[in-house]
Amino acid sequence: MNSTNGKTMKMMSSQLFAPCGINCGVCANYLRKRKPCVGCLLGIIGKEPHPKCKIRLCAREHGFTNCFECKTFPCERIKHIDLRYQKSYGISLILNSLAVKENGIATFMEREARKWECPSCHERLSIHLPICSNCQQPNPFFPLSRKREQSN
Ligand code: SF4
Ligand code: SF4
Ligand SMILES: [Zn+2]
Repeated sequence: MNSTNGKTMKMMSSQLFAPCGINCGVCANYLRKRKPCVGCLLGIIGKEPHPKCKIRLCAREHGFTNCFECKTFPCERIKHIDLRYQKSYGISLILNSLAVKENGIATFMEREARKWECPSCHERLSIHLPICSNCQQPNPFFPLSRKREQSN
């Protein structure tokens, strides 16, 4: 176990909110130790993540930082990825976007930082992983962990 007691926890920056509504700050690729992704928006400056992502390209072409700025939000592409995230990870990207639109990115990121702190070791949990990658305890927000809890 890599015990860091939260000292290496990555910051949740407003620049980590991807146009589609993913918080890159809780993405497994952003949190991994080796060659982490820098995030969807920051990646535009450096090496591009998802260079062929149609949502990312569409938002950029329209000059939007976030898809919720678009008058057709949520378009079919957004609905599709939202459904996928709801089914696989129990997260609605549309609700993420609406929360940012309504209350601002700073409030959203503060809430996310509190939500995704591992209850056991206080490192950052990932929306994509069923366990904490630091202490291996279950991620309570991962859909399968929730089902297991409910059946106990
Ligand atoms: S892989 Fe995608 S979702 Fe994850 S941090 Fe990179 S840009 Fe964000
Ligand atoms: S049409 Fe609008 S909501 Fe859909 S991907 Fe493009 S910018 Fe985002
Ligand atoms: Zn942990």
